[in-house]
Amino acid sequence: MRVLLVEDDPLLASALATVLRSAGMVVDHTADGHEAQVLGCTESYNAAVLDLGLPGQDGVSVLRHWREQRQVFPVLVLTARARWSDKLDAFQAGADDYLTKPFLQEEVVTRLRVLHRRALGPHTSVVQVGPLQFNTVTDRFFLHGDALALTAQEHRILAFLVSRAGQLVSRADISEHVYARDLDPDSNTLDVLIGRIRRKLGSAPVIHTERGRGFRLVGEAAADSP
Ligand code: CA
Repeated sequence: MRVLLVEDDPLLASALATVLRSAGMVVDHTADGHEAQVLGCTESYNAAVLDLGLPGQDGVSVLRHWREQRQVFPVLVLTARARWSDKLDAFQAGADDYLTKPFLQEEVVTRLRVLHRRALGPHTSVVQVGPLQFNTVTDRFFLHGDALALTAQEHRILAFLVSRAGQLVSRADISEHVYARDLDPDSNTLDVLIGRIRRKLGSAPVIHTERGRGFRLVGEAAADSP
């Protein structure tokens, strides 16, 4: 799950980024409203955490711009303001949830997971790909009914492939959602990780490599596969 964190208080931003990363999320952080506006329209995020009082451009304007540009990722608004009119403005601009400072940082993780799950649809608490099950509530994988042991990076890659099961996923897509910005998608780290995941999955489901294009996770091995 890739999250855009927009917060100009350096201490809070750093604490939140740490909490979100330790919950397995990939976090891009900006303290500036203008930069947030551009990132939300040019990068691909599963959710955003958005402060309202920001330098450059205020959070409500940023959010309104994202929605005008048809960016539909869920947005959790954070603010020190407790006035009802501010909350109303944020919701009217397209916010999905709201936390007033101070708050428990863990609550941000919980709320983001709920928003992400809702965004995936009402019936996706368990996603099935062949004999592989991914429980989006507990964030755990099961293969043939047994818990599947994965490292944090393998987990994130497989969760992303499962969320796009059957579709072609480019190397750049994976590096954006699994690592922070600026990781070279052509490095062979990704191939090594995909190789490890393949070994753990056994004969099915299968991660196909489409040379020069990316990867595709499919539920069953093709009849003519080795
Ligand atoms: Ca602020």
